[in-house]
Amino acid sequence: MISLFPVLPSRTGIAAGGFIALLALEQLAPFKKPVDRRLPRYLRNVFLMVFNGAAMQWLFGGAIIAFTAFLAEHQLGLLNHFHVSGPAAFAVSFLTLDLATYAFHWAYHVSPPLWRLHRVHHSDLDLDVTSASRFHIGEILLSTIYRIGVIAYIGPTFGAIVAFEASLLAFAQFEHSNIKLPGDWDRRLRWVLVSPDMHRVHHSDVRGHTNSNYGTIFTCWDRLFGTFNVDGIDQERIKIGIPEYQKLDEVTLPKLLVMPLGPRCQVAGRSPLIAESAYGKTPSPV
Ligand SMILES: [Zn+2]
Repeated sequence: MISLFPVLPSRTGIAAGGFIALLALEQLAPFKKPVDRRLPRYLRNVFLMVFNGAAMQWLFGGAIIAFTAFLAEHQLGLLNHFHVSGPAAFAVSFLTLDLATYAFHWAYHVSPPLWRLHRVHHSDLDLDVTSASRFHIGEILLSTIYRIGVIAYIGPTFGAIVAFEASLLAFAQFEHSNIKLPGDWDRRLRWVLVSPDMHRVHHSDVRGHTNSNYGTIFTCWDRLFGTFNVDGIDQERIKIGIPEYQKLDEVTLPKLLVMPLGPRCQVAGRSPLIAESAYGKTPSPV
Protein backbone atom coordinates (compact mmCIF):
# COMPACT_ATOMS: atom_id res chain seq x y z
CA MET A 1 0.00 0.00 0.00
CA ILE A 2 2.97 2.22 0.19
CA SER A 3 3.53 4.21 -2.93
CA LEU A 4 6.68 5.27 -4.71
CA PHE A 5 4.64 8.26 -5.73
CA PRO A 6 6.47 10.75 -3.51
CA VAL A 7 9.44 10.25 -5.81
CA LEU A 8 7.53 10.37 -9.07
CA PRO A 9 6.41 13.53 -10.88
CA SER A 10 2.87 14.95 -11.02
CA ARG A 11 1.98 13.35 -7.71
CA THR A 12 0.82 16.44 -5.86
CA GLY A 13 -2.38 16.96 -7.83
CA ILE A 14 -3.67 13.39 -7.53
CA ALA A 15 -2.59 12.99 -3.91
CA ALA A 16 -4.02 16.32 -2.76
CA GLY A 17 -7.18 16.05 -4.90
CA GLY A 18 -8.10 12.59 -3.63
CA PHE A 19 -7.24 13.51 -0.07
CA ILE A 20 -9.38 16.68 0.00
CA ALA A 21 -12.35 15.11 -1.83
CA LEU A 22 -12.50 12.06 0.46
CA LEU A 23 -11.89 14.11 3.60
CA ALA A 24 -14.84 16.34 2.64
CA LEU A 25 -17.04 13.31 1.93
CA GLU A 26 -16.12 11.82 5.31
CA GLN A 27 -17.26 15.02 7.06
CA LEU A 28 -20.57 15.07 5.16
CA ALA A 29 -21.47 11.37 5.49
CA PRO A 30 -19.13 9.50 7.86
CA PHE A 31 -19.71 5.77 8.21
CA LYS A 32 -18.28 5.26 11.72
CA LYS A 33 -18.10 7.68 14.63
CA PRO A 34 -14.47 8.43 15.56
CA VAL A 35 -12.97 6.82 18.67
CA ASP A 36 -9.79 8.93 18.80
CA ARG A 37 -9.77 12.74 19.14
CA ARG A 38 -10.20 13.92 15.57
CA LEU A 39 -7.82 16.90 15.27
CA PRO A 40 -4.79 15.41 17.10
CA ARG A 41 -5.21 12.23 15.07
CA TYR A 42 -5.42 14.15 11.78
CA LEU A 43 -2.30 16.11 12.73
CA ARG A 44 -0.46 12.91 13.69
CA ASN A 45 -1.25 11.14 10.41
CA VAL A 46 -0.66 14.21 8.26
CA PHE A 47 2.68 14.79 10.00
CA LEU A 48 3.73 11.23 9.08
CA MET A 49 2.57 11.82 5.49
CA VAL A 50 4.59 15.03 5.14
CA PHE A 51 7.64 13.72 6.99
CA ASN A 52 7.74 10.44 5.05
CA GLY A 53 7.13 12.21 1.72
CA ALA A 54 9.93 14.72 2.36
CA ALA A 55 12.34 12.00 3.51
CA MET A 56 11.64 9.85 0.44
CA GLN A 57 11.95 12.82 -1.91
CA TRP A 58 15.29 13.66 -0.34
CA LEU A 59 16.54 10.07 -0.49
CA PHE A 60 15.09 8.87 -3.81
CA GLY A 61 13.95 11.99 -5.72
CA GLY A 62 14.68 11.47 -9.42
CA ALA A 63 16.26 8.06 -8.82
CA ILE A 64 13.22 6.05 -9.96
CA ILE A 65 12.97 7.93 -13.25
CA ALA A 66 16.69 7.55 -13.94
CA PHE A 67 16.58 3.89 -12.92
CA THR A 68 13.67 3.06 -15.27
CA ALA A 69 15.41 4.80 -18.16
CA PHE A 70 18.57 2.84 -17.36
CA LEU A 71 16.63 -0.48 -17.44
CA ALA A 72 15.08 0.34 -20.83
CA GLU A 73 18.34 1.61 -22.32
CA HIS A 74 20.22 -1.53 -21.31
CA GLN A 75 17.29 -3.87 -22.04
CA LEU A 76 17.26 -5.10 -18.45
CA GLY A 77 14.34 -6.84 -16.74
CA LEU A 78 12.14 -9.71 -17.97
CA LEU A 79 9.93 -7.60 -20.25
CA ASN A 80 12.90 -5.99 -21.95
CA HIS A 81 14.66 -9.36 -22.21
CA PHE A 82 11.67 -10.99 -23.98
CA HIS A 83 10.97 -7.84 -26.04
CA VAL A 84 7.43 -7.50 -24.66
CA SER A 85 6.15 -4.02 -25.41
CA GLY A 86 2.97 -1.97 -25.95
CA PRO A 87 -0.30 -2.84 -24.16
CA ALA A 88 0.93 -6.34 -23.22
CA ALA A 89 3.94 -4.90 -21.39
CA PHE A 90 1.70 -2.35 -19.67
CA ALA A 91 -0.81 -5.00 -18.52
CA VAL A 92 1.85 -7.45 -17.31
CA SER A 93 3.71 -4.66 -15.50
CA PHE A 94 0.59 -3.33 -13.80
CA LEU A 95 -0.64 -6.77 -12.67
CA THR A 96 2.80 -7.92 -11.52
CA LEU A 97 3.36 -4.76 -9.48
CA ASP A 98 -0.03 -5.25 -7.81
CA LEU A 99 0.75 -8.92 -7.08
CA ALA A 100 4.14 -7.93 -5.65
CA THR A 101 2.43 -5.36 -3.40
CA TYR A 102 -0.04 -8.02 -2.22
CA ALA A 103 2.84 -10.40 -1.45
CA PHE A 104 4.82 -7.86 0.55
CA HIS A 105 1.71 -6.82 2.49
CA TRP A 106 1.16 -10.49 3.38
CA ALA A 107 4.81 -10.72 4.50
CA TYR A 108 4.34 -7.68 6.76
CA HIS A 109 1.59 -9.60 8.56
CA VAL A 110 3.13 -13.05 8.93
CA SER A 111 6.70 -11.99 9.76
CA PRO A 112 7.01 -10.74 13.39
CA PRO A 113 9.90 -8.32 12.61
CA LEU A 114 8.02 -6.84 9.65
CA TRP A 115 4.80 -6.66 11.66
CA ARG A 116 6.62 -4.44 14.18
CA LEU A 117 6.83 -1.81 11.42
CA HIS A 118 3.41 -2.43 9.90
CA ARG A 119 1.54 -2.29 13.21
CA VAL A 120 2.09 1.48 13.27
CA HIS A 121 -0.35 1.61 10.35
CA HIS A 122 -2.78 -0.83 12.00
CA SER A 123 -2.69 0.88 15.40
CA ASP A 124 -4.91 3.67 14.05
CA LEU A 125 -8.10 3.53 16.14
CA ASP A 126 -10.17 5.05 13.35
CA LEU A 127 -10.05 4.45 9.64
CA ASP A 128 -10.23 7.32 7.17
CA VAL A 129 -8.33 8.88 4.29
CA THR A 130 -5.53 10.04 6.64
CA SER A 131 -4.89 6.39 7.61
CA ALA A 132 -3.62 5.78 4.06
CA SER A 133 -0.53 7.85 4.91
CA ARG A 134 0.09 6.58 8.42
CA PHE A 135 3.21 4.45 8.07
CA HIS A 136 6.47 4.22 9.93
CA ILE A 137 9.41 5.57 7.93
CA GLY A 138 11.08 2.15 8.30
CA GLU A 139 8.21 0.49 6.42
CA ILE A 140 8.29 3.18 3.73
CA LEU A 141 12.03 2.66 3.21
CA LEU A 142 11.81 -1.13 3.14
CA SER A 143 8.84 -1.15 0.75
CA THR A 144 10.55 1.31 -1.59
CA ILE A 145 13.69 -0.81 -1.78
CA TYR A 146 11.52 -3.90 -2.40
CA ARG A 147 9.55 -2.12 -5.14
CA ILE A 148 12.76 -0.97 -6.83
CA GLY A 149 13.90 -4.63 -6.80
CA VAL A 150 10.62 -5.73 -8.40
CA ILE A 151 10.93 -3.00 -11.03
CA ALA A 152 14.47 -4.16 -11.81
CA TYR A 153 13.24 -7.74 -12.21
CA ILE A 154 10.24 -6.93 -14.42
CA GLY A 155 11.64 -3.98 -16.37
CA PRO A 156 8.29 -2.18 -16.77
CA THR A 157 7.83 0.90 -18.90
CA PHE A 158 7.91 4.24 -17.14
CA GLY A 159 4.26 4.80 -18.13
CA ALA A 160 3.22 1.56 -16.41
CA ILE A 161 5.07 2.54 -13.23
CA VAL A 162 3.45 5.98 -13.14
CA ALA A 163 -0.03 4.53 -13.84
CA PHE A 164 0.42 1.86 -11.17
CA GLU A 165 1.75 4.23 -8.52
CA ALA A 166 -1.05 6.74 -9.21
CA SER A 167 -3.66 3.96 -8.97
CA LEU A 168 -2.06 2.55 -5.82
CA LEU A 169 -2.22 5.91 -4.08
CA ALA A 170 -5.79 6.63 -5.23
CA PHE A 171 -7.00 3.17 -4.14
CA ALA A 172 -5.20 3.39 -0.80
CA GLN A 173 -6.98 6.69 -0.08
CA PHE A 174 -10.35 5.37 -1.30
CA GLU A 175 -10.35 2.06 0.57
CA HIS A 176 -9.23 3.62 3.88
CA SER A 177 -11.90 6.32 3.70
CA ASN A 178 -14.67 6.39 6.30
CA ILE A 179 -17.50 6.18 3.79
CA LYS A 180 -20.23 3.70 2.93
CA LEU A 181 -20.94 3.21 -0.74
CA PRO A 182 -24.68 3.38 -1.55
CA GLY A 183 -26.76 0.26 -2.17
CA ASP A 184 -24.71 -2.78 -3.03
CA TRP A 185 -22.02 -0.83 -4.92
CA ASP A 186 -19.37 -2.06 -2.53
CA ARG A 187 -20.23 -5.70 -3.23
CA ARG A 188 -20.32 -5.08 -6.98
CA LEU A 189 -17.02 -3.22 -6.90
CA ARG A 190 -15.14 -5.90 -5.05
CA TRP A 191 -15.75 -8.48 -7.72
CA VAL A 192 -12.75 -6.81 -9.34
CA LEU A 193 -11.44 -4.00 -7.14
CA VAL A 194 -10.68 -3.57 -3.43
CA SER A 195 -13.48 -1.66 -1.70
CA PRO A 196 -13.79 0.29 1.60
CA ASP A 197 -15.81 -2.54 3.24
CA MET A 198 -13.17 -5.06 2.27
CA HIS A 199 -10.29 -3.03 3.64
CA ARG A 200 -12.21 -2.13 6.81
CA VAL A 201 -12.19 -5.85 7.63
CA HIS A 202 -8.39 -5.80 7.23
CA HIS A 203 -8.21 -3.08 9.92
CA SER A 204 -10.50 -4.95 12.36
CA ASP A 205 -8.99 -5.80 15.75
CA VAL A 206 -9.95 -9.46 15.21
CA ARG A 207 -6.87 -11.42 14.13
CA GLY A 208 -8.75 -13.52 11.59
CA HIS A 209 -9.88 -10.31 9.95
CA THR A 210 -6.55 -8.45 10.13
CA ASN A 211 -4.78 -11.35 8.48
CA SER A 212 -6.91 -11.22 5.36
CA ASN A 213 -7.67 -8.87 2.45
CA TYR A 214 -4.08 -7.88 1.60
CA GLY A 215 -4.90 -6.56 -1.88
CA THR A 216 -4.68 -2.88 -2.76
CA ILE A 217 -6.09 -2.61 -6.29
CA PHE A 218 -7.37 -5.96 -7.59
CA THR A 219 -9.23 -8.52 -5.45
CA CYS A 220 -8.12 -11.47 -7.61
CA TRP A 221 -4.98 -12.08 -5.49
CA ASP A 222 -6.98 -12.44 -2.26
CA ARG A 223 -9.44 -14.73 -4.04
CA LEU A 224 -6.63 -16.78 -5.58
CA PHE A 225 -4.67 -17.26 -2.34
CA GLY A 226 -7.68 -17.75 -0.04
CA THR A 227 -7.37 -14.50 1.91
CA PHE A 228 -10.55 -12.84 0.62
CA ASN A 229 -12.71 -12.21 3.70
CA VAL A 230 -15.65 -9.83 3.70
CA ASP A 231 -18.89 -11.67 2.96
CA GLY A 232 -21.04 -12.15 6.06
CA ILE A 233 -19.05 -9.80 8.31
CA ASP A 234 -21.14 -7.14 10.06
CA GLN A 235 -19.44 -3.85 9.11
CA GLU A 236 -21.19 -2.03 11.96
CA ARG A 237 -19.55 -4.28 14.56
CA ILE A 238 -16.00 -3.95 13.30
CA LYS A 239 -13.68 -2.38 15.88
CA ILE A 240 -10.69 -0.71 14.24
CA GLY A 241 -7.14 -1.22 15.53
CA ILE A 242 -5.07 -3.94 17.17
CA PRO A 243 -5.76 -5.34 20.65
CA GLU A 244 -2.39 -4.27 22.13
CA TYR A 245 -2.84 -0.58 21.25
CA GLN A 246 -6.41 0.37 22.12
CA LYS A 247 -5.69 3.21 24.55
CA LEU A 248 -5.44 6.78 23.23
CA ASP A 249 -2.20 7.49 25.13
CA GLU A 250 -0.53 4.49 23.44
CA VAL A 251 -0.86 5.92 19.94
CA THR A 252 0.58 9.42 20.34
CA LEU A 253 3.12 10.56 17.72
CA PRO A 254 6.24 9.92 19.85
CA LYS A 255 4.93 6.44 20.69
CA LEU A 256 4.19 5.69 17.03
CA LEU A 257 7.78 6.54 16.10
CA VAL A 258 9.19 4.01 18.61
CA MET A 259 6.36 1.46 18.29
CA PRO A 260 8.52 -1.00 16.23
CA LEU A 261 10.74 -1.37 19.32
CA GLY A 262 7.82 -2.24 21.63
CA PRO A 263 6.75 -5.67 22.88
CA ARG A 264 5.74 -8.31 20.38
CA CYS A 265 2.09 -8.34 19.32
CA GLN A 266 0.14 -11.55 18.89
CA VAL A 267 -1.28 -10.78 15.47
CA ALA A 268 1.82 -11.62 13.43
CA GLY A 269 3.52 -14.90 12.75
CA ARG A 270 0.38 -16.82 11.85
CA SER A 271 -0.56 -18.03 8.42
CA PRO A 272 -3.51 -15.98 7.20
CA LEU A 273 -4.88 -19.13 5.61
CA ILE A 274 -5.64 -20.66 9.03
CA ALA A 275 -6.77 -17.44 10.66
CA GLU A 276 -9.62 -17.69 13.09
CA SER A 277 -12.40 -15.18 13.44
CA ALA A 278 -14.42 -14.08 16.45
CA TYR A 279 -17.45 -13.50 14.28
CA GLY A 280 -18.39 -13.52 10.66
CA LYS A 281 -17.04 -15.68 7.89
CA THR A 282 -13.51 -17.01 8.16
CA PRO A 283 -11.35 -17.65 5.10
CA SER A 284 -11.16 -21.40 4.66
CA PRO A 285 -7.79 -23.19 4.75
CA VAL A 286 -6.40 -24.19 1.36
ZN1 LIG B 1 -1.98 -4.60 6.77
